[in-house]
Amino acid sequence: MSRRHTTTDQTEPLLRVTDLRTRFHTDDGVVRAVDGVSFDITAGETVCLVGESGSGKTVTAESITRLVECPPGEISGRIEFRGEDLTAASEDRLRSLRGAEIAHVFQNPQDALNPVHTVGWQVAEVVQIHESVSRRAARKRAIDLLDRVDIPDPAATADAYPHELSGGMKQRVLVAVALAGEPDLLIADEPTTALDVTIQAQILDLIADLQAEFDMAVLFVTHDLGVVARVADRVVVLYAGKVMERAPVDRLFDAPAHPYSRALLACLPGRGESNGAIPGDLPDVTDPPPGCRFASRCPFAVEDCHEGDHPPLAPVAEGADVEAGATVGDPPAGSAPLAASSAERSAETARSAPPDAGPDREHVAACIFHGEDYDAAQLDREVAWSAAEDDHGE
Ligand code: SF4
Repeated sequence: MSRRHTTTDQTEPLLRVTDLRTRFHTDDGVVRAVDGVSFDITAGETVCLVGESGSGKTVTAESITRLVECPPGEISGRIEFRGEDLTAASEDRLRSLRGAEIAHVFQNPQDALNPVHTVGWQVAEVVQIHESVSRRAARKRAIDLLDRVDIPDPAATADAYPHELSGGMKQRVLVAVALAGEPDLLIADEPTTALDVTIQAQILDLIADLQAEFDMAVLFVTHDLGVVARVADRVVVLYAGKVMERAPVDRLFDAPAHPYSRALLACLPGRGESNGAIPGDLPDVTDPPPGCRFASRCPFAVEDCHEGDHPPLAPVAEGADVEAGATVGDPPAGSAPLAASSAERSAETARSAPPDAGPDREHVAACIFHGEDYDAAQLDREVAWSAAEDDHGE
């Protein structure tokens, strides 16, 4: 049985996030957790938001259906889901959308399940929120869903309480809950982080199978590049609330353009000299430093990187199509890609650059990665990521 929601124009993104800014007003000041993030997802696609803890991944994901508590949160920018601007949607509209059209799966299944109800009761409850069916029919559908997420003996397991199930089984139950409304978009926030490696792989495979079966788009939030390599079609790399790079997954792994992407990849076993962590700390997003947010940890930083505004993503390849309304002009002479070298990614990166990005281009042009002598391969040979802290950490 399938009851897809309003037909999606396959030529348009299912979700388009433009210049998303999510801030929290605190006693210590305004925390700019997400600061101008743009990306999109088409039907059936998997996009990964990746970055270290504190990069703004979860806040980005939770801003989409306004799970962020406002106030103290404040969300601005544009979030279009099938063309509907969710930033202008009423709370009633968002309530009907959550679960039915956009569903979330969270990191810790123990916290997400109610300990005083059986798991079958909890899945059936969600079925009844989305469908006008009897309790008996909802229970039958709940058992079908538990079966679909490969829970053994689903009829008996439906009568189990969360504490009677393993972590992997609980996460399967949460996936069943998410599927109850047959969403068009599944937002999976570190859904396997609390699980051991074998169970992680099973859950990732399960989500991939269900994605194909239900033709869902998946926004996957993770800090784990191993997970990214396994599930992503495209990747959005976040750092301190900013997008550092957007790329198809193969390109990101084969030719990461941004120094932060390179640093993340260098943390993978066998890929670099880093000991599993990037030296240095993320900047304070309550009072972010001027210039590039990554400058204090970037081995390639030059003086200009510490001044002015954070450089926007740059359109790069010649002859690239630039979306109407997002024209940013020609790149500076001799410039090299920040985040892309293909026409496809030029257009994509261009979308995130504001129309008045001109002044920042001088900063980008001054960046060593955009100078006429750009030779990333040579630079990588000369700079050991593990030396970054000694040379540039403050
Ligand atoms: S070279 Fe400069 S602009 Fe480029 S990532 Fe490093 S600090 Fe940022």
